[in-house]
Amino acid sequence: MDSQRSLTIVIAAYNEEAVIARMHQRLSAALDATDAESTVLYVDDGSRDNTWAELERIAAADPRVRLLRLARNFGKELALTAGLDHVETDAALVLDADGQDPPELIPAFVARWREGYDVVYGTRTARDGESWLKRFTAAGFYRVIQRLSRTPIPPDTGDFRLMSRPVLDALRQVRERQRFMKGLFTWVGFRQVPFPYHREPRLAGGSKFNYWKLWNLAIEGITSFSTVPLRVATYIGLFTAFAAFAWGAFVVVRTLFWGDPVQGWPSLMTVVLFLGGLQLVALGIIGEYLGRLYMEAKQRPLYLIARDVRGRR
Ligand code: UDP
Ligand code: MG
Repeated sequence: MDSQRSLTIVIAAYNEEAVIARMHQRLSAALDATDAESTVLYVDDGSRDNTWAELERIAAADPRVRLLRLARNFGKELALTAGLDHVETDAALVLDADGQDPPELIPAFVARWREGYDVVYGTRTARDGESWLKRFTAAGFYRVIQRLSRTPIPPDTGDFRLMSRPVLDALRQVRERQRFMKGLFTWVGFRQVPFPYHREPRLAGGSKFNYWKLWNLAIEGITSFSTVPLRVATYIGLFTAFAAFAWGAFVVVRTLFWGDPVQGWPSLMTVVLFLGGLQLVALGIIGEYLGRLYMEAKQRPLYLIARDVRGRR
């Protein structure tokens, strides 16, 4: 098919001087093995080491390479967004710079794409070189977000994926600022197929994500794809208000039957409980509207069209 010929490999790199040259060697060998016309787009996410110089050397030697350099470190999600925005080919494939997503699998991804899938996403069968703590916290995160969000975010799926032109065009319409790419990739829909693979340990250097960054990413994921936390506040408010009203009523009744031994206490208590309850309910209501406002503020496209077929006359 004509619309399934060219491919761009998008790689975000942040302080990857130790691996980038080796990575490119592996990658270009893998690209030689596909018949897709390929471009490699490196996005330097404001590296402070020699990554950019390395990339310039790579680009000088390989005409397939295109480079983008972000003005500072914007984080992986935005680096990927920048890369995907600049893809001009029929499909894009996202890869980590550290060799954890083996480029040797590219021909297999391309084959699945040509079978008619719009998204081929890698799922990890093994996580070599990752501590049990990271695996445990990752599993926990996926469990929580599956519960809270209506977008089913597949577990053990990273950013290693191939996306067709229609999906790239769809992603371009999603311009929200808090970007949780894993979620957005699924949110757009289209025909998606998992591709199980063995995730290798990093070639060299250390992970750019510490637990604090991962924790923030997890919060970002949950809050971008769910307003359940806001709703929890509503329910706590309603429950507390109900309990307060009930107790207030009880204080009133007790005073009517058994008198008012501590002068002023029942009336004071009733007023405090009534106002407290009222405030919590009001906060809950504000929370509900805030949730809607938040959804609107994202300006996500209302729908995305995968195919538009007209019968030929
Ligand atoms: N990365 C990036 N910007 C950042 C942090 C990371 O572009 O601020 C890139 C990094 O260079 C690598 C990919 O994102 O290509 C994944 O990072 P890393 O391997 O450190 O994450 P891990 O595999 O440990 O989850
Ligand atoms: Mg890595």
